Amino acid sequence: MSNTATLPDQQLAKKGSGNVPAYAAQDAKATLAPFTITRREPGPKDVQIEILYCGVCHSDLHTARNEWQNATYPVVPGHEIVGRVSKVGKDVKKFKEGDFAAVGCMVDSDRTCPECKDNLENYCNNMVQTYNSPDKHLGSMTYGGYSKRIVVDEHFVLRVPDTKNLAGVAPLLCAGITTYSPLHHWKVGKGQKVGIVGLGGLGHMGLKLAHAMGAKVTLFTTSPGKTEDAKRLGADEVVISKDPAAMEKHAASFDFILDCVSAQHDINAYLNLLKRDGTLVQVGAPEQPLATSVFSLIFKRRNFAGSLIGGIKETQEMLDFCAKHGITSDVEIIPIQKINEAYERLLKSDVKYRFVIDMASLK
Ligand code: NAP
Ligand code: ZN
Repeated sequence: MSNTATLPDQQLAKKGSGNVPAYAAQDAKATLAPFTITRREPGPKDVQIEILYCGVCHSDLHTARNEWQNATYPVVPGHEIVGRVSKVGKDVKKFKEGDFAAVGCMVDSDRTCPECKDNLENYCNNMVQTYNSPDKHLGSMTYGGYSKRIVVDEHFVLRVPDTKNLAGVAPLLCAGITTYSPLHHWKVGKGQKVGIVGLGGLGHMGLKLAHAMGAKVTLFTTSPGKTEDAKRLGADEVVISKDPAAMEKHAASFDFILDCVSAQHDINAYLNLLKRDGTLVQVGAPEQPLATSVFSLIFKRRNFAGSLIGGIKETQEMLDFCAKHGITSDVEIIPIQKINEAYERLLKSDVKYRFVIDMASLK
């Protein structure tokens, strides 16, 4: 535990930059409600950002409701942040006041371990998440983007290369990088048959990105009503995953499948669609384990892997790739007062295809 963790409240308040409006969950059963937080005064390498938009990731819901059993309350979720720089520390080089800037799922790491040296801060043992991690500066937990302002070390702040649709850029900071990173790492491209499972926030970005990378893309969905949208978003084919005959037609034919599902489902149904040496990457993170039949893996030497967001260098590369290809997220903009309704809709797979909070609604 850092020294600041034991500072009395009064001293902590002095280190902070005043009262910042936010929304928080106070316990696993509570709905999100207004809450006031403190942000630190920017240090020499810090960037202070006034948040304009924040995307709503299913991870926010998993954490607010303690589904992963790791929440420390109060939880202020939000890790798809786009805003405007309002102050910079004296040593900041990449940003100046007035610039647009973005923050994703991490705000710090140790910068010395092999992962950090490989630009993979996302796999650093000391990675600090944007919310629900111990905050070494203020002694509290880190608080995320469901708030008016955030202060972040410039290393973890991204440049926004295309500012025409800032609300559509916000979800790239998690849904975008979480799908881009495995597609890129496993070298998805032209000539490959690629599957995306689940058309929510991650899935719709996976579709757009895999299509832009040149793959032939099949979308697997439990929602027949999403078929036309999936085609518009980049799917060459759509399979209703509840139809066993439709699934069987694709047996042992995929090079790569990206599973973006937030709830319990049969993973073997997808492993069986991989051809020899094919890879299924799990990015969706249901609260309960997914039962894997070894026979789904051993018969065709298939691979079952996982992937967590992406490093900062790769996140910037993804933002630049999206700007070059004209890719943003399809969003439904909501005022923060509708956040609890948005969570209920996420649970019904009723999202087209990312809720984004307009932070002007937070007073
Ligand atoms: P989302 O927008 O709620 O989308 C999830 C989609 O999964 C739904 O739209 C639905 O698509 C499908 N689905 C939901 N329940 C299902 C069920 N019972 N059976 C089959 N399919 C179902 O969620 P998201 O924000 O994209 O996040 C997806 C998951 O990824 C979450 O668990 C989240 O925590 C996780 N995540 C992981 C990382 C990482 O780094 N690995 C990063 C961010 C998020 P259809 O209607 O098309 O079936
Ligand atoms: Zn997320």
